Amino acid sequence: IRPPLPSFQTAIAEQQRDEALSHVKALTEKLEQMKMSGNNGCPPNYRPCDLRGMPLAKLKSIQAKLREEIEEVEIVLYQETANKCMKCEEKNRSVTLVPCNHYVVCDTCATTQRECPYCQTPVTPKA
Ligand SMILES: [Zn+2]
Ligand SMILES: [Zn+2]
Repeated sequence: IRPPLPSFQTAIAEQQRDEALSHVKALTEKLEQMKMSGNNGCPPNYRPCDLRGMPLAKLKSIQAKLREEIEEVEIVLYQETANKCMKCEEKNRSVTLVPCNHYVVCDTCATTQRECPYCQTPVTPKA
């Protein structure tokens, strides 16, 4: 078994996180802009009473816009999840488990894990 490459994987994880963060920032700015320019596009919030009676074309454009936003959120969510510890989902992954070599937990959870949360292989405690 070859030794893991934590520095390489960490670099990739960090890059992914940076990309995800800048994406979230851009998305937030876009949402702010949409709120500001309330009346030329969609209403700031989509309550059913606001939507009822709207022309179909407008409803469809709102639907398309929301779909786009959901897609963006899903992409960011996916990227963020890929970086987060599988155990606590709060800290970033930072430890490669031995012997299965899965890079799935943070340093805090790594000390308490008896088995890999991904493949259930018993973890060899660090000496
Ligand atoms: Zn954790
Ligand atoms: Zn594993």
